[in-house]
Amino acid sequence: MSNIPACPQCTLENTYPDGANYVCADCGFEWPMNQIAEADDAEAVVKDANGNVLANGDAVVLIKDLKVKGSSTVLKMGTKVKSIRLVGGDHEVDCKMDAGNFMLKAEFLKKV
Ligand SMILES: [Zn+2]
Repeated sequence: MSNIPACPQCTLENTYPDGANYVCADCGFEWPMNQIAEADDAEAVVKDANGNVLANGDAVVLIKDLKVKGSSTVLKMGTKVKSIRLVGGDHEVDCKMDAGNFMLKAEFLKKV
């Protein structure tokens, strides 16, 4: 049960889920699960060049040629990636292509 967050009020971990809320058994504080889930989502939102929200498994195309750092490989504009994986960080999209696996910035991608 370690994925239940500690109480935001007293920081003890004697907490349990109750419907849509978490409840702290020590101080009686209740807080909604959704609130925390939404905060996480807001942080994790990744948008493509057009501002569309990307999700795991989306298909995208490259909107420009991208040179792969430390190699002579160039990923061509228009290259399609069948299924992306969002990983967070600076280069937040993990793209599996014929040429290999690359971490790309969402701003160079367009959802198809
Ligand atoms: Zn508490």
